[in-house]
Amino acid sequence: MKTSSTLQGRREFIRQVGISGSALLFAPDFMGHWAADTRTDVMVLGGGIAGLYAALQLQEKGYSVGVLEGANRLGGRLFTLDNIPGRPEVGGIEVGNGYQSIIGLAEKVGVAIVAHPPAPPQARELTLFVRGKAISTQNWHASDCNLLAEAEKKLLPPLLESHYTMKNIPFKQLDEWYSGNFQSLDIPYADFLRQKGASDEAIRLIDVNANIHGVHRTSALHVLRSLSLRIIGGSTTTLRIEGGSSRLPQAVAAKLKQAPETGKIVKRIVQKKKRVEIYCSDGSRYVARAVICTLPFPALRQVEFLTPLPSLQQDAIANMPYIPISQVHMRPTAPFWEEDKMPPAMWTDSPLGRIFATYNEKGEVERLTSWMVGNEAANFDKLPSEQARAFVLSEMAKLRPASKGHLEILYMNSWGNNPLNGGAYHQYAPGQIGKWVPHLAKPAGKICFAGEHTCFTHTGMEGAAQSAERAVKEVEQILNAS
Ligand SMILES: Cc1cc2nc3c(=O)[nH]c(=O)nc-3n(C[C@H](O)[C@H](O)[C@H](O)COP(=O)(O)OP(=O)(O)OC[C@H]3O[C@@H](n4cnc5c(N)ncnc54)[C@H](O)[C@@H]3O)c2cc1C
Repeated sequence: MKTSSTLQGRREFIRQVGISGSALLFAPDFMGHWAADTRTDVMVLGGGIAGLYAALQLQEKGYSVGVLEGANRLGGRLFTLDNIPGRPEVGGIEVGNGYQSIIGLAEKVGVAIVAHPPAPPQARELTLFVRGKAISTQNWHASDCNLLAEAEKKLLPPLLESHYTMKNIPFKQLDEWYSGNFQSLDIPYADFLRQKGASDEAIRLIDVNANIHGVHRTSALHVLRSLSLRIIGGSTTTLRIEGGSSRLPQAVAAKLKQAPETGKIVKRIVQKKKRVEIYCSDGSRYVARAVICTLPFPALRQVEFLTPLPSLQQDAIANMPYIPISQVHMRPTAPFWEEDKMPPAMWTDSPLGRIFATYNEKGEVERLTSWMVGNEAANFDKLPSEQARAFVLSEMAKLRPASKGHLEILYMNSWGNNPLNGGAYHQYAPGQIGKWVPHLAKPAGKICFAGEHTCFTHTGMEGAAQSAERAVKEVEQILNAS
């Protein structure tokens, strides 16, 4: 039995070394023992939706669980800008009606999943801007900037990708894409498009705004798998999280008895015989019987990971490509589209990518958002902040001279420049799927992996949630065996 002076001494020791939160429960007492009666069973690394949902499930099963989040907010890639009118999203938005795990989780924590508000008819219109010229969608087929092959000329640039892919999706089941039967599609996406008859100009236009980092460096199998979710993923319509995407991670966190800790950048993970030790950049240390690691691989690359891993798993962690996406949210201070008489939303092959228009309940344009993917985002991310602002406004003025002086930048976000993510989502380069998928999410000793990149059925939020369900089962087995 501990004497009170021993306990006081222990508290003083803890105060002096500055161990905090759940680590305090594990500080070795002065007799050299680990306080087994109070130890945290599982530490979850990363406070995005995968990490928070994993923690909630473990708590419901009676385990003690802590969450460490490196940023100063929870939610990761679910991030609503609550201080900007209209609450723009910089991360995930659309919830497919087939997202069973996300919808179930939202119901459990009392968050509503709702339909998008109806958009006014003008929201469907857009201006094309190709090869330096603004073109109406009606005039596209005859435009001298339309260098598509004869058979493609009537296709609008935003529809080219689905034209060449949707009818060529060969999977019937969610897990078929990595079965090994489709290795012949694990080739550069550009080659696949060419095989299907796309012209060089069609491939160039697809490359600008497709949700990937480059048609030459992305596996066609990866693209087809992502697009197949629209057909076989059970999502026929898209919904949203009421009040903004951040409401979901916040509501999950509020249910956790042990509050997730923010500002805890994990720097080192050491696996010992009976425990895992986690060290953060602020000097704090945590100990648990097992760990669920949800860090995106570019972030995990920054962590000293003292656990032997199979070489292909190590290869995936070190090299999995992530897609840069950057957004610039702007407020129009005057309706310049009334002056140039073109719809405010744009599809462009310019460095600003697509420009989305968001309407308020009165049917007025509330915001314009430049959405850059892949090479456009990677180039934009190199600019220092002030230069980036000036660049956006001057590019907008080139696209729409009438916009000059009538745009205010509200917020700029780069997922590629964020070291805690390293990109918006993962992708596979040609040849990586067959090599990595069987290995990359396997538990390593007492460490299990979750996060959207470790799910092989769904992608996005649903992938993150399903990965959490899998990792919880794996961690339970580890705890039961130890
Ligand atoms: C622009 C954009 C649009 C999207 N649109 C959609 C959509 O419409 N529908 C959809 O379903 N999905 C969408 N997604 C994807 C979806 O948002 C993600 O798949 C999902 O949120 C990922 O959750 P996660 O928990 O796996 O990862 P994350 O949310 O990234 O969580 C990982 C957490 O780990 C933290 N972390 C990293 N390193 C450390 C460290 N060293 N120490 C401690 N913590 C660390 C990070 O800060 C982060 O909070 C979109 C994503 C983006 C970026």
